[in-house]
Amino acid sequence: MVKSSVFLALSLVWVTSVASAQEPAKPLYVLEDSYLRWRLLPAEQAYLSIDGKHLKQYVEDLTAISRRYRDHGHPQFWGRITGTEADAENAQWLLDKFRKIGLSDVREQSLDLPPQWVPASWSVSASASGKTVALESAQPTSTSPGTPASGLDLEAVDVALASEGDLAGRDLRGKAVFFYSADYTSRQAPISDYAIKRIGDRGAAAIFVIVGLPGNLRTQFYPVGSTVPTFSLGLQDGVAIRDLIGQSRGGQPPRVKIRLDVKTVPNLKTATVWGSLPGTGDETIFVVAHRDGWFEGATDNASGVATMLGLAEYFAKIPREQRRRTIHFLGTSGHHDNSGMTGHWLADHKEMFAKTALIINCEHTSAEQLVYRGGVIRRTNTTVPLRWYVGGSPRLEQIVVKAYDAFGVATYAEPEPSAGGEMGPYYQLAPSLQLIEGNLYWHSDRETAEVVPPTGLAASTRAYAKIITDVNQLGLKDLLRPQATEARR
Ligand SMILES: [Zn+2]
Repeated sequence: MVKSSVFLALSLVWVTSVASAQEPAKPLYVLEDSYLRWRLLPAEQAYLSIDGKHLKQYVEDLTAISRRYRDHGHPQFWGRITGTEADAENAQWLLDKFRKIGLSDVREQSLDLPPQWVPASWSVSASASGKTVALESAQPTSTSPGTPASGLDLEAVDVALASEGDLAGRDLRGKAVFFYSADYTSRQAPISDYAIKRIGDRGAAAIFVIVGLPGNLRTQFYPVGSTVPTFSLGLQDGVAIRDLIGQSRGGQPPRVKIRLDVKTVPNLKTATVWGSLPGTGDETIFVVAHRDGWFEGATDNASGVATMLGLAEYFAKIPREQRRRTIHFLGTSGHHDNSGMTGHWLADHKEMFAKTALIINCEHTSAEQLVYRGGVIRRTNTTVPLRWYVGGSPRLEQIVVKAYDAFGVATYAEPEPSAGGEMGPYYQLAPSLQLIEGNLYWHSDRETAEVVPPTGLAASTRAYAKIITDVNQLGLKDLLRPQATEARR
């Protein structure tokens, strides 16, 4: 008796705390104005001219380009998609900004794209015992095969977490297979320890990964290597289909109708947007940012483009005779379409980096820390810590560590051993560095400008400006990776 009333009291406490977590109290401050700011030492006051709110306007401009593309006949697969009019529009936008800032040699280098994967339209619905639910949040994984024009009509099965145990003894051949993943930030094949491959190997005819983030997010995955139509699904839709499957147990299993019209479009073009700030010598620094992105792509990579522009503005104000090295600014074609055109062009033109002191990749430089707590995603007044890579001499490493400390750039405890992604094809050709991270909304339709703190933009951009300034105090050979110095002997 005593026990059960204690239990009841505890449950009430638990229920109350869950309820309060779901409904935060009214805010006491305006979040946009109240993100934590780093107070700069007198020696760093010069970098105050790099203003986060000003950079945030660039993020707003770029996300508006995405929405325009969506609202002009692309309601399902949208963003600043490589090879589309959104790509052309943001290239033009960047050229204008480079010119306004006063960069030299501002130009667009046109690049021919390989045939592009374009999911023109799709629909997914499930029905059981007269009840039909449309799975609106379904989003095909990049490069997913389409269905025949008539679509697919498949039996639905739920394999829980798709662990080996969940799949043991299950016949998945020819079925639409749903699994749940708590691997919230993965948008890649390794999600849930390669569950998509495990399911595909067992003969599934379609695969759905339910991304366990609260709400009903649309998420865009990178290619997952699947040979059958494969989709991500928001949690609300995921629970609905799992309920449908569960409730029909012992009777007729639900059917899933899938139609995915994929086109392969040849002869599209993209571009690298170039601009330069000439220095006094013949050595160079490269500052790159990928222009493409899925959905609004506010962190990925409007934030990085804003950071690049912030650096261009900062150094354009410094007289040429005080600029030791020429800085090349590149708005790259990006990598979400899997072609990485700019990256491969640069890797094929190693001579570009013959006298390069530093490459800075501006990619995902600011994202609000979101916390999944009490069944909802809560906002906070701080930025996510960033993953970071630096490849160069120990002196370069120390310059970088000090700059992140000086401007309040939160990072993972250890740097990354390599730099994949946009800079992947060429980062080893010169000393190089990047900061990169998204939050829970990365690659989703919730990745809007709202969750890009201006303070994060300011911190990353100021740190990069200080790094460029400090690097310009050192000769080329003092910056190279130890193994590169060895190779040049
Ligand atoms: Zn990116």
